[in-house]
Amino acid sequence: MRRYAFPAFAALMLVLPLLPVPDFWITQSNYIGLYSIVALGLVLLTGVSGLTSFGQAAFVGIGAYTAAFLATKMGVSPWLTLFVGVALAIVAALIVGAVTLRMSGHYLPLATIAWGLALYYMMGNMEWLGKYDGLLGIPTLHFFGWDLGTGRGLHVLIWALALLAALAITNLLDSRAGRAIRALKSGSTMAEAMGISTFRYKITAFVIAAALAAISGWLFAHFQRTVNPTPFSLTKGIEYLFMAVLGGVGYVWGAFLGSAVVRVVDDQLQVLLPKLIGTSGNFEVIVFGIVLVVVLKYAPDGLWTFIQRRLPAAPRPRDWEGAAALPARDKPARGELLLDVDAVRKEFGGLVAVNDVSFQIRAGDIVGLIGPNGAGKSTTFNLITGVLGLTRGAVRFRGQPVGGLPSREIARRGMSRTFQHVKMIPEMTVLENVALGGYLRSHAGTVKAMLRLEREEERRLFAEAERQLQRIGMEGQMHELAGNLALGPQRLMEIARALATDPALLLLDEPAAGLRHKEKQALAAVLRQLKAEGMSILLVEHDMDFVMGLTDRIVVMEFGTKLIEGTPAEVQASPAVRAAYLGTEH
Ligand code: ADP
Ligand code: MG
Repeated sequence: MRRYAFPAFAALMLVLPLLPVPDFWITQSNYIGLYSIVALGLVLLTGVSGLTSFGQAAFVGIGAYTAAFLATKMGVSPWLTLFVGVALAIVAALIVGAVTLRMSGHYLPLATIAWGLALYYMMGNMEWLGKYDGLLGIPTLHFFGWDLGTGRGLHVLIWALALLAALAITNLLDSRAGRAIRALKSGSTMAEAMGISTFRYKITAFVIAAALAAISGWLFAHFQRTVNPTPFSLTKGIEYLFMAVLGGVGYVWGAFLGSAVVRVVDDQLQVLLPKLIGTSGNFEVIVFGIVLVVVLKYAPDGLWTFIQRRLPAAPRPRDWEGAAALPARDKPARGELLLDVDAVRKEFGGLVAVNDVSFQIRAGDIVGLIGPNGAGKSTTFNLITGVLGLTRGAVRFRGQPVGGLPSREIARRGMSRTFQHVKMIPEMTVLENVALGGYLRSHAGTVKAMLRLEREEERRLFAEAERQLQRIGMEGQMHELAGNLALGPQRLMEIARALATDPALLLLDEPAAGLRHKEKQALAAVLRQLKAEGMSILLVEHDMDFVMGLTDRIVVMEFGTKLIEGTPAEVQASPAVRAAYLGTEH
């Protein structure tokens, strides 16, 4: 059913002007299409990437004013102004994004408010933009001699662009770049550990959203045939966000549903409310505020979820049979010095969390890093993987210093890790989560993904993801949503994701923590098998029994300091180790 839903909807919207639909509803539908294009950008930006923007109306304004100014004052062809407007919006988004997207948390929403206000007042105060009266007499669009007008003809163009935009965003979300964008919302640590530049993808999402807004603005200018600052104000920016949230900010079709509901209800309320209350005023704003609160309470993911539930998702067709393998790196020879941790130190203020710790890992070894809680294991792990900066000391990987490199650069050199607290994208399938690990072994970018020209590489990525799931015995669960798995399988999934990076060294942070006995056994079996295959592993563990049977050598830490290093038997026999564990555990 879902397969036919899009073509059927697209066909309906494109032939709507030919049907005996009253002009009024064609106009409404034009507005809905225009709003949907902007809201689609917000789905990508806010719903998928987790970046809130109140300033989209300003980008709409750039598209609209560019079209209006160039057409009325310079006589430029309207089809050319589309490209100029989108280009200007992209440049503006790059500048605003470069300044704000590195900041975390609430700076972006605040910055988008400032940006929206600034552009609004600029539009309103510029002599050459007609100040608050705006620009009048924008020509209608012509298509091979056919005057599109502002009604039925334009409807075809608006909806063709809206549907193409929806298709492009849908394609993007189901791609290598899209998975990187979807990884943004759950924080940057995991994505960066998979080699993804989170900053780059935040900028990408911001730029796409701005470009969509500018396209909508360009259409709007030729639809209204006049522009003034009001439709591009901060209020309108908030309304766009409202549409996206109401419809379902995580869903492409939520943008359309939200835009339709807001447009139709807004229009009805403007007629109805004055009759009910007796005076006219902007009461619909209040009604919308109440509606939003109710929706957020009872359908926090928006209205689209009600329709989504009735459209069961089909599992991804298994189309990657026989796909070529992804490129693989040169593996170190057994016994080669792989990781050299040389007197690393980390101070948090006065606390010395890691106190000049040194150890080495040779290719083919499983080394355990153990110690009681708070001993500094995770901190050491984060120093090695580039999540934390070194206070002092050096880390060398395959002979190269890696201290101070960002974690995605360290991932590129062949270290891959899991997390003490599982980090994944719960609403993606197991297979897609594991495919994220193949990011650095593939290349297709955003534009290729939108045009769906990267399917061959996608097949290779999914073949690799399936292979890694088979390696750990989880291929039976590949189509399940990662968020629905129990903790044990989630931990294994993280290992498969790390393996998909084709690592030279695998680093596992407390993989057995919180697992039930059966799950621990399954994990131990997987690790034993990986060792048999020649994988080198650094295993950080709190559970001493778990590492004893698995490791070649063990480093014991206590209070940030290396206590001893030796074979499991030596460590087990050490009175100091026993004292450390007994001293803090009991
Ligand atoms: P382990 O993983 O061995 O349980 P950690 O490396 O997490 O230990 O922590 C070692 C010590 O460093 C603890 O005392 C912890 O409270 C402290 N610590 C860890 N991370 C930070 C941080 N970001 N800021 C301040 N103190 C920290
Ligand atoms: Mg820890």
